[in-house]
Amino acid sequence: MTVSGVVQGVGFRPFVCRLAQELGLDGHVLNRAGAVEVEVEGSPTRLDAFLRRLRGEAPKLAAIEGVSVARRPPRGECGFRILASEASAELLPFIAPDVATCDECLRELFDPADRRFEYPFINCTACGPRLTIVEGVPYDRERTTMRRFALCAECRAEYEDPSSRRFHAQPNACPRCGPSLVFYERGAVLTRGAALERAVERLTEGAILAIKGIGGFHLACDAQDEAIVTELRARKRRPHRPFALMVESVERAAELVHLGPEAQALLCSPERPIVLLCRRAEAKIADAVAPSSPELGVMLPYTPLHHLLLRRLRGKPLVMTSGNVSGEPIAIDEVEAVEQLGSIADAFLSHDRPIRVRCDDSVARVSLGVPRLLRRARGHAPRALRLPRRLPRPALAVGADLETTFALGRDQQAFVSQHLGDLEHLRAQQAFEDAVIHYEKLFAVAPEVVVHDAHPDYASTRFALKLAHARGLERVAVQHHEAHIASCLAEHGVEGPVIGVAFDGTGHGSDGTIWGGEFFVGEGASLRRVGHLRAVPLPGGDSAVREPWRMAVAYLHDAGAPLEVLSAQVPQANLERVRALVARHGACPRTSSAGRLFDAVSAIAGVCLEVSYEGQAAIELEWASPPLEGAPEFPFELERDADQLVVDTRPLVRGVVEAVLARVPASEVARRFHATLASATVAVCEVLRAEFRLQRVALGGGVFANTRLSEELERRLGARGFELFRPSALPPGDGGISLGQLVIAGARSALEGRA
Ligand code: ZN
Ligand code: ZN
Ligand code: FE
Repeated sequence: MTVSGVVQGVGFRPFVCRLAQELGLDGHVLNRAGAVEVEVEGSPTRLDAFLRRLRGEAPKLAAIEGVSVARRPPRGECGFRILASEASAELLPFIAPDVATCDECLRELFDPADRRFEYPFINCTACGPRLTIVEGVPYDRERTTMRRFALCAECRAEYEDPSSRRFHAQPNACPRCGPSLVFYERGAVLTRGAALERAVERLTEGAILAIKGIGGFHLACDAQDEAIVTELRARKRRPHRPFALMVESVERAAELVHLGPEAQALLCSPERPIVLLCRRAEAKIADAVAPSSPELGVMLPYTPLHHLLLRRLRGKPLVMTSGNVSGEPIAIDEVEAVEQLGSIADAFLSHDRPIRVRCDDSVARVSLGVPRLLRRARGHAPRALRLPRRLPRPALAVGADLETTFALGRDQQAFVSQHLGDLEHLRAQQAFEDAVIHYEKLFAVAPEVVVHDAHPDYASTRFALKLAHARGLERVAVQHHEAHIASCLAEHGVEGPVIGVAFDGTGHGSDGTIWGGEFFVGEGASLRRVGHLRAVPLPGGDSAVREPWRMAVAYLHDAGAPLEVLSAQVPQANLERVRALVARHGACPRTSSAGRLFDAVSAIAGVCLEVSYEGQAAIELEWASPPLEGAPEFPFELERDADQLVVDTRPLVRGVVEAVLARVPASEVARRFHATLASATVAVCEVLRAEFRLQRVALGGGVFANTRLSEELERRLGARGFELFRPSALPPGDGGISLGQLVIAGARSALEGRA
């Protein structure tokens, strides 16, 4: 039989070997290309039992895609053996994601009698680095960054012993033969145990450390020390965006945040994401960690080094934020770390196991009982996603420009890359291109089609053009918001027509305006825009995004409302200048973006008038809002404009202004606004349901990272008999775009093939 899926580097062959021996079957097992090949002989009942248990009892980290069985005459084999791997390109290889330290390794880590006592690089076939150390395929030690460490006799014996849980654990290592720690600070260098102790000392004293992890460096400091967290914000030039925390244990997490059973399971999962959770009022944490947020992003230790550090810090939570300067990719080696983080970190805690693949932490949350990824990276990438339909040809989809991912697709599988950040800076673009080439090699996909966003000026689009030209590939452009909806449909395996609601920042629309508050009907690959939020002038592209008060002026002008509501916070001359701009016909492009509407309301309500990171005004408006139940609403209207159903936002904006002028608190304005937008969305869905006889609704776009709005829609649409699909395996924002692009391009070229 041939077993395909994630079956290499997860202890699959020792499992097969033990199972066969237990059942008294003879034969062998080996890795062939990306799959595991098994030959067993014995009585039919035992063979049946073998097949059943092969699927049912497979190692936790394995993900069996398929088992194909061929019957052959017995060869009279004697005993069961594990044979050497055979490489070939005929089968698609799989690389597993990186996995948090398992319980057994953890026990050894803290067992003074164990030879790996306090060894920061302990791992086994069930845990440790995977994607981040892989240089090539098949997955074998010689093709990982561990090749520079020759196994000592004891480690080799484990590596070669099928009954050991370190059998063919590629990163297997011990203090004698494996990687080791190094600490440096202003010329002083310490190694191994001394490095660890000094790092703990410096963290306790209130220093900022750059710590090398699995997929890159973190910047770490004491999360209870207001002064040092504030200092980190200043040095990193990141004034507002919340920092993530690492805590020693679930118990410690529960002291900081409210932890339901689903959230606890998510926090403890082998993927170990950062989980966004409601903070406790009494949480002892510096205000500067997550200013004005009702939530904290918390994760548990996921490498042996983290466990060693956190245990020594005796319950002190650490700020653990990506080791990069704003807009650049996370630093992965000492050269990058010193160059990028030298002016931020006081000291470095590093090691000599090279990182081949950059990988940030994943971010997730539980919404109405379901775990949902907001950033898909470590622990999840590059796990394959199953496409609803076969792709006619292998393809590469390059995503958008923010929170970028790309996706490689072949047959019915998609490999979506880890989150690769924003492509604004040259270095981020280079990291993106490097990752594409590396993934092509790892997954043996030679794309014949390259798919990109319809926006001509995205760095990802330019890269797609360059690649298509250099390799003579076919090129397909996909509208941004159609890709958002298609992504949600693909992950849920939904086929057939639906209503799609895309609420987003901004994206290139098919009619020359800037979209972001769109309603579609149709199948994933042939969506038709049938409605949108009322379009208003966008006063000056990037500056309108950075300064939400500009957007507020555009909406106020559009609604015929007075600008005075802003004059306490913005000089009158600036207001007038922007009003003159938006009033001049043709001076500004028009946008129907829901994200920009959030910005405007956030500014009018006095919540946020200028941002330091993407989406801040909308996010802070959500933070300001209490639960929506029973909220009074602002008025809105639905109108017809040719074939489009338009949500007229002018009554809403006037309602917001009246409330603000009547000194209704910002939190109440935020609450009413969320409830109103939910009402408007439901109203449009009702009209579309009547008109097109559709009752399945898919959501997509960055605005749906907003749980107040998403959960309200789930409740209201559910109560009215709609079936709702929300992004969960992929982020609702641009991190999910690449999968949608892949599916749309695949379906289009299949259609053309038929025609
Ligand atoms: Zn382990
Ligand atoms: Zn060793
Ligand atoms: Fe988007």
